[in-house]
Amino acid sequence: MKYKGSCHCKSVEFEIESDLDKIMQCNCSICIRKNAKMIMISKENFNLLKGEDRLSLYQFNSDIAKHYFCKDCGIYTHHNRKSDPNGLGVNLGCLDDIDPMDYDAGHFDGRKL
Ligand SMILES: [Zn+2]
Repeated sequence: MKYKGSCHCKSVEFEIESDLDKIMQCNCSICIRKNAKMIMISKENFNLLKGEDRLSLYQFNSDIAKHYFCKDCGIYTHHNRKSDPNGLGVNLGCLDDIDPMDYDAGHFDGRKL
């Protein structure tokens, strides 16, 4: 299935291809603060439609993971994963017509990484 998504102010819009089967929450130092349910997909299933210039990149520690958020509204949209270089985590709450409350998230132990 294809799903469209955006940040809150719609400066950033994207599309993903996913069955929404790998939904996780992570307890690493940044994810625990964002507290978002994330859908895990591979990079080729993510297509940025709009707003590359509105995305800010945040990195810390090893500088491997890339955490993106909208410069205008501050919403986390997606990140390149540290534990899977070909993988992306996408904010489930950014997808159109999806209520994250309807989905149970698995636990990813990011504190051990
Ligand atoms: Zn925005």
